[in-house]
Amino acid sequence: MNHPIIRIPFARGLAALTVVASLAGCATGPDAEAAIAELSEALRSGLGEEGAKPLSAPASIATLTADPSPPRPRSDDPNLILGVAASPGVAVGYTYRIQHQEITVAEAGSSPNAERRKLEQAIGQARGEIEALRAKVHGQADAGKAAIFAAHLELLEDPELEDTATNLIDKGKSAAFAWKQSYSAQAEILSKLKNELLAARATDLRDVGERVLRILTGATTEAVSYPDNSILLAEDLTPSDTATMQAGKVLGFCTVGGGATSHVSILARSMDIPAIAGAEPRIMDLPNGTPVILDGSKGKLRLNPSPDEMEQVRQKQIRLKAKREVEFAHAEEPAITKDGYRIEVVANIGNQKDAEKGISLGGEGVGLLRSEFVFMERDSAPSEEEQTQIYSNIAKVLGDRPLIIRTLDVGGDKPLPYLPIPHEENPFLGVRGIRIGFDRPDILRTQLRAILRASTQGNVKVMFPMIATLEDWRMAKAMLEEERQNLGLPPIQSGIMVEVPSAAVLAKQFAQEADFFSVGTNDLTQYTLAMDRGHPKLAPYVDSLSPAILSLIGMAAKAANDHGKFCGICGGIGSDPQAVPILIGLGVKELSVSVPTIPSIKAQIRSLSLADCQQLAAKALTLQSGAEVRDLVPLDD
Ligand code: PEP
Ligand code: MG
Repeated sequence: MNHPIIRIPFARGLAALTVVASLAGCATGPDAEAAIAELSEALRSGLGEEGAKPLSAPASIATLTADPSPPRPRSDDPNLILGVAASPGVAVGYTYRIQHQEITVAEAGSSPNAERRKLEQAIGQARGEIEALRAKVHGQADAGKAAIFAAHLELLEDPELEDTATNLIDKGKSAAFAWKQSYSAQAEILSKLKNELLAARATDLRDVGERVLRILTGATTEAVSYPDNSILLAEDLTPSDTATMQAGKVLGFCTVGGGATSHVSILARSMDIPAIAGAEPRIMDLPNGTPVILDGSKGKLRLNPSPDEMEQVRQKQIRLKAKREVEFAHAEEPAITKDGYRIEVVANIGNQKDAEKGISLGGEGVGLLRSEFVFMERDSAPSEEEQTQIYSNIAKVLGDRPLIIRTLDVGGDKPLPYLPIPHEENPFLGVRGIRIGFDRPDILRTQLRAILRASTQGNVKVMFPMIATLEDWRMAKAMLEEERQNLGLPPIQSGIMVEVPSAAVLAKQFAQEADFFSVGTNDLTQYTLAMDRGHPKLAPYVDSLSPAILSLIGMAAKAANDHGKFCGICGGIGSDPQAVPILIGLGVKELSVSVPTIPSIKAQIRSLSLADCQQLAAKALTLQSGAEVRDLVPLDD
């Protein structure tokens, strides 16, 4: 069978990989699946806190394997438009349609040399623009958005894009024509892939391509000034559209394209505004200024609501805002239940800025520093000195508050450019997490020395990811101890991520040796349910509140408590208000949550009683599904 072949760039400037879009499974060939997984992961990393709360089914859920064009949910009510829940929340506003103008280009070029130079210069300028955008969002402490623009830089570096264009230039075409052909063809193929994550990346490729094209043709992007209270309607929004949006004017998005995993959804979530993707195409026929209620949690756009309905939503928003203000005002206070039981609320962070923000929101320390962020976004591994500096700076920011540094958690599906990892048949079951540290002890030992040295600056603890066996733990612990003795420093606390089911099942044995546990429910859920945590088709079923996962959490917490150790949670459900009472009832002592949710999780804990939570947890363990557990803890409306 002849397969259309495209080359897509993937993480951090590695050579482009050949992806074969086959009719059967979207990719074949030895590297194809790895390329998809790795590109998907690199791009998905913009998600930041990725909980294991079931997502609404992507629009294409029913036919991912059968038909490349996904079916859309449709409503019979002319005033109701359905789509995919892409970013939670509700907004009331007025529609504003965005249409991207097609940039027209002349086909014939001047001399090939001159056209090639033009193209190179335009690509260089585009790179500068994207770097500036990335720096801007980084400056706004928005690691998620910054990661998206980092991914855009990768797309721009794909040699295949430029090679295809250069071939056309050599045939007498203009740089603009050749470039447009090149990226459009690749984007077209991407958009037809049945892998939803990859298909959604077609928009990113078009965004990058158009940026270069505008430079080549001198086409300007008018800085759009949106009316107040706009709900943007578009075929698709590019990350560039959203990065330059004026905060406050745009209240939400509704796009025909995209899905729960597309960048527009990621960006909407990071902007904390509701969004719907994969909506019915008739949104593009709506006149500007149509009053609407956009419900990003349910994936619904209600047209022409009655003034009463509009008012109800506005009132709800006012109540929510007031609630947030009260929570923020009490953020510094400890999270103590009504019956006097204290839960530590700490932050999941990736860098020093997150740590500062976490403290400003009442965080009582850091329960998870994902140290891979220190290793990503660079071309070589950070030295011992550099790491010591970075960890020390964070420890100093935290003072005597705890800082749990997780050792490097990459491998398999999360590539590092300077750490070539052979192709894995099952990346999540392969050499990842602590297994990388055993495979490359030089890297782990360097990191352990840096962590130990930083421990002199604060309350530093070390945590090992992906511990599956007692041998794993003992080997990691022995390496820590050897490095500690070599450095002549005092011992530090060391613990394990409980994210492989075997670690929870053997929690009693681990609790005799480890100082603490932190349950990584994102991975624990995928391994327990045998469902890939990023699989678009399985997303609606991956729920960390499934009684099976709760039972494992309960085992870990009980074992820790019985041995006088503490058990925390650092997976996404720590930040999920429906999970919080149950986790507390199961005996969890520390919740490590996404930074923005710290004040609300603390406030929620103050409203609970341990006795009630214990009853709730006991009941949850008898239920049959995550959905039944969620029904036990209804969300406030
Ligand atoms: C987890 O698996 O729950 C976790 C916190 O680790 P990560 O999401 O970084 O894999
Ligand atoms: Mg994990």
